[in-house]
Amino acid sequence: MEKKIRLLALCISLLCFGVLIYSFYKEPAQTKEDGKEDTTEVVSEESVSEDKETTLREDEEVIFSSEEISDEVFERIYGISYGKDCTIPREDLRYLQITYVGFDEKDHVGEMICNKVIAEDLLDIFEKLYEARYEIEGMELVDNYNGDDEASMEANNSSCFNFRFIAGTTKISNHGKGMAVDINPLYNPYITSSGYTPVNAGEYVDRSRDFEHKIDENDLCYQLFIEHGFTWGGSWNSSKDYQHFEKEA
Ligand SMILES: [Zn+2]
Repeated sequence: MEKKIRLLALCISLLCFGVLIYSFYKEPAQTKEDGKEDTTEVVSEESVSEDKETTLREDEEVIFSSEEISDEVFERIYGISYGKDCTIPREDLRYLQITYVGFDEKDHVGEMICNKVIAEDLLDIFEKLYEARYEIEGMELVDNYNGDDEASMEANNSSCFNFRFIAGTTKISNHGKGMAVDINPLYNPYITSSGYTPVNAGEYVDRSRDFEHKIDENDLCYQLFIEHGFTWGGSWNSSKDYQHFEKEA
């Protein structure tokens, strides 16, 4: 008799267990049913956002554009790199957007303002540098540094246009005309008999040393600028400006 009761108890337990298991699996199944539409939406949302990201990435990959100076850009530079005494007509300048490879090995889109005379040269040079995964640390308008060359160089910012007269003259510098470009200036300082700029470039003054981001005659950046008819500040006789490439207007 006791055995029968035990067996019955066991059967009841098993039944309860079965019901429990059934309801356990049934619950989420129902939820799934109820939430079917939501789930589908989430999935489709996910695939949509994935598509969006891909599209964005594709768009960002290859920007090498040259435009006239828009009102929006002009507002950013007027009174700074485009000083109030600037004698270079706004129409002679171009606003470039350039994809470059950063020191983080990732793609970035930089900005540069140059003379329209060299705009196509620069787009071609920077496109080839990009294809070769040549690393440039930053490419911002010098206006982001309040027009302060030294601050821009210390930050290793590559840039071009910054209007100014050569000190004590009425001659406009090549950067002032938008005809000169500085590349990775911290690693490629301007060295004169009296010192160097930027001030934090001490490590890179000795050009017999080998280090990354050094511009010399074996450097792709040097070769491309030379091919496009620029001269290099590293070839100057007295002072040496290793970051600097310029073309005569
Ligand atoms: Zn320069």
